[in-house]
Amino acid sequence: MLHATGARAGVGAGVGTVPRVPDDDARGVSGRDGHAGTDVAVHDGLFVLGDEPVLIGGRCRECGRVCFPRHEICPYCSLGPVDEIELSRRGTLWAWTAVTAAPPGYEGPVPYGFGVVDLEEGLRVITRITESDPSNLEKGQQMELVLDMLTEHDGHRVLTYAFAPSAR
Ligand SMILES: [Zn+2]
Repeated sequence: MLHATGARAGVGAGVGTVPRVPDDDARGVSGRDGHAGTDVAVHDGLFVLGDEPVLIGGRCRECGRVCFPRHEICPYCSLGPVDEIELSRRGTLWAWTAVTAAPPGYEGPVPYGFGVVDLEEGLRVITRITESDPSNLEKGQQMELVLDMLTEHDGHRVLTYAFAPSAR
């Protein structure tokens, strides 16, 4: 399911979509005034910027299941409205690979790490991984949410979420 070259994993599920730069400077500025030099999220509604970033997920009021990204309607039971929640910043590594060819529209560096992290909420997040050499990673190791710069766009640092091996 994860391919080593030019992966576009996760698009079908609407989860962990391939990073892209905003096509409109007004979006993703995260409430700041947007002048040159500010940090910009690659997409609104995925995570909260900051020194201790958090992913924004959702919890269904009917079935209680947790999703990421947050959907308006529960993707599991289709019944409940979905409340916005902050997901845990730590998890364990479940699967990983390296993407060696840039996917269409991607402007960041290659190779980059890509994989799946299990969160405490019982959710698997498809995510960028800061370690791009697969041999340096182990299944089950502790991972921590960080922000990773994809590219610069009109003087803004365009940030996306990623998981990094936790300091031990
Ligand atoms: Zn539900």
